Amino acid sequence: MTARPRVERDTNQDDLLVITGAGGFIGGALTRHFHDLGYRRIRAIDRKPLPEWYQRVPGVECVSLDVSEKQNAIRAVEGAVEVYNLAADMGGMGFIERFRVECLRSILINTHMIDAAWRAGARRYFFSSSACAYNTDLQKDPKARALKESDAYPAMAERGYGWEKLMSEMFCQEYWAERGLETHIARFHNIYGPHGTWFGGREKAPAAICRKVVEAKDFGSSEIEIWGDGTQTRSFCYIEDCVLGIDLIMHEPKLIATPINLGSSDLISINDLVTMVEEIGGVKLHRKYDPDAPKGVAGRNSDNTFIKSVLHWAPDTPLRVGMEKTYAWIAQQYADRKAGKKVVRD
Ligand code: NAD
Repeated sequence: MTARPRVERDTNQDDLLVITGAGGFIGGALTRHFHDLGYRRIRAIDRKPLPEWYQRVPGVECVSLDVSEKQNAIRAVEGAVEVYNLAADMGGMGFIERFRVECLRSILINTHMIDAAWRAGARRYFFSSSACAYNTDLQKDPKARALKESDAYPAMAERGYGWEKLMSEMFCQEYWAERGLETHIARFHNIYGPHGTWFGGREKAPAAICRKVVEAKDFGSSEIEIWGDGTQTRSFCYIEDCVLGIDLIMHEPKLIATPINLGSSDLISINDLVTMVEEIGGVKLHRKYDPDAPKGVAGRNSDNTFIKSVLHWAPDTPLRVGMEKTYAWIAQQYADRKAGKKVVRD
């Protein structure tokens, strides 16, 4: 692994950082990241009631607000120096293929948040975009070449979710071009790790596979269901790389209003990911394929040429290392749920 790069920040630890989506997976991890760096004024926001947040970081102001409402967005950013917008109605393929209206409606979140941030005089604004913004025609083959930033245009994004991300990216670019609000945009590629959704319908492949393996062991079953034929390929980025990447991208002047990939460039098929989780769990299961289940594009990988050239860094946590931590966390959550304890849920 390369050495962790230094972030050149111009904020001081009493500047107010606002993080939306902080009751969820990445927003929660980002809140912890800044808290651990010593930031004393963090306002964490999520529409979920506080008891349902995945993580509540001690000493952080946690507010339950729906920022798709204009007045709430205005309230959210009051006094903010930096705004990190991680809020979105989203989930894995099972969610984004079924609930396109909900995904599209997330445009209200960014539309109100960016305008409120600009009006409040925030110094900079971060938007969490997605690899789903890329042209789907380039992702029809499991061996498809990795996606570079220019591949979003000509546009043919993932229906619903991907188009919302692309439009919101454009808002970020135009708020910079016309109004001078400094914006930063990262296109995340499949972020995974502890403290993410692992059951209930919004979970993504790494968490779902870990849960299925844990379940099979618990039930004494020898079978695992796989969505599609398992040949679909993806790259998966560990949560700690993701939060460091957000921090680096937000504070890099060369990346103002410039979408950039934030993902791993190590491609793996779903079948191989299942094999890896079986090895971690110490079982071998019979695979039952469901060709009708949502499976997304055939192949998607992150081309990290641009991020390496600008930041001299790219996500580099080995998948096996991240998956071992994720599996251990999900196995514990599963045991806790069984024992009637409170766990992360959607
Ligand atoms: P998540 O679902 O765990 O977190 C999103 C949070 O936003 C949830 O807690 C939800 O309650 C909150 N939210 C939704 N609507 C809201 C509203 N109107 N007001 C306030 N809060 C609201 O998802 P995540 O994985 O942490 O994703 C964070 C961001 O990263 C999202 O914008 C997502 O689209 C983007 N992203 C994630 C991935 C990934 O692999 N996890 C990949 C690409 C992009």
